[in-house]
Amino acid sequence: MEHRDLSEADPEVHKALENEVERQESESLEMIASENFVPRQILQAQGSVLTNKYAEGYPGKRYYAGCEYHDKIENLARERACKIFNADHANVQPHSGTTANIGIYGKLVGKDAKILGPVLSHGGHLSHGHNVSMSGDMFDFGAYPINEETERFEKEDVMKAARKHDPDLIVCGFSAYPREVDFEMFREVADEVDAILMADIAHISGLVAAGVHPSPFPECDIVTTTTHKSIRGARGGMILCKEEYASDVDSAVFPYSQGGPLMHQIAGKAVCFKEAMKPEFEEYAEQIKKNTKALAEGLREHDLRMVSGGTDNHLVLVDLRDEEVTGKEAEEALEDADIVVNKNSVPHDPKPPQVTSGIRIGTPALTTRGMEENELEEIGRMIGEVVKNPEEEVLKDEVGERVSELLEEFPLYEDSEVRY
Ligand SMILES: *Cc1c(COP(=O)(O)O)cnc(C)c1O
Repeated sequence: MEHRDLSEADPEVHKALENEVERQESESLEMIASENFVPRQILQAQGSVLTNKYAEGYPGKRYYAGCEYHDKIENLARERACKIFNADHANVQPHSGTTANIGIYGKLVGKDAKILGPVLSHGGHLSHGHNVSMSGDMFDFGAYPINEETERFEKEDVMKAARKHDPDLIVCGFSAYPREVDFEMFREVADEVDAILMADIAHISGLVAAGVHPSPFPECDIVTTTTHKSIRGARGGMILCKEEYASDVDSAVFPYSQGGPLMHQIAGKAVCFKEAMKPEFEEYAEQIKKNTKALAEGLREHDLRMVSGGTDNHLVLVDLRDEEVTGKEAEEALEDADIVVNKNSVPHDPKPPQVTSGIRIGTPALTTRGMEENELEEIGRMIGEVVKNPEEEVLKDEVGERVSELLEEFPLYEDSEVRY
């Protein structure tokens, strides 16, 4: 076997990687609410020789020999996760948030059971029973809506949907919900219909870890999450639970829905959890919330309406139904100005999902770069201007220039030795 530098061994892949570093570093403001930038130590763990080994099973109970160090790493990840989230048990093997959810549905309630999740266009995720996803195809899902007046999830609506569908499991947790999740309310509903309560905290796990969003425990029985969104770790999933569900959760992941774990990713998760236990991470999460409020202030100056009127987490959902632009057009105009957001349905959106009447804007990635309230308020104003004048090329160029200045002022990987 010959070891060569990637630049020599595979110049095409190398070139694309170099370009991607450049794109992340200095081409646009990353404001997709589910994205973030990981520190060098996580990239190092992910790019390690752990990828060489099969470690099917769990620490101390592997199907292959030679797992001493894999056990050590997976145990570190599990212990740290339990400590951070106040959970009895953690399974750090899910390859993604979606596989974590599907494993739970299949193993804990089964294909003949009923599940209740949020309406997709009201902030839910495809893996919450949408019919284009395996979750909707294989399981009997019902859906609860967001309240039309408050634009929040309210007990009366969830209860009504729960009484109608009579679920064995209720999913609470969202991809485009700008407010705190009221786990106590969902517990009350779950108790009323005798269902297991599962929280999917994929988006907010960084805020929960830092204690700036209420914890899903003790109200929830099972908690699924990704590890690459606000918690800023290696790409992947995780399941946390109370002791009574521990062995079912483990078999839901392996052997029910996955084979061998991605141990290099699990090492990246372990390092992520160590970072998330530091006081600096608490400050980071606190700053995300402040930054999102500042962003909302900037948007308000241009009279943009936000779903539920504002935010108490890491994202805002701008309602464009009264504006001249669709979500798709706003996304494109902002991309021309080097601001990257995504079009997103708003509740009761008259437009199809490929078009939409909304944009979702998040601050975790820019907060990682070190930006604070002043920058985010200014960015909110720039977004407002572009959304109100999507055809004005000069304006978009000017905004793009200001974006370049901001990117230079708040470097990402430039100062470290990391290039990819
Ligand atoms: C992102 C997300 C997921 C899925 O995560 P993947 O790792 O992309 O599969 C699941 N649930 C919610 C609420 C999400 O926002």
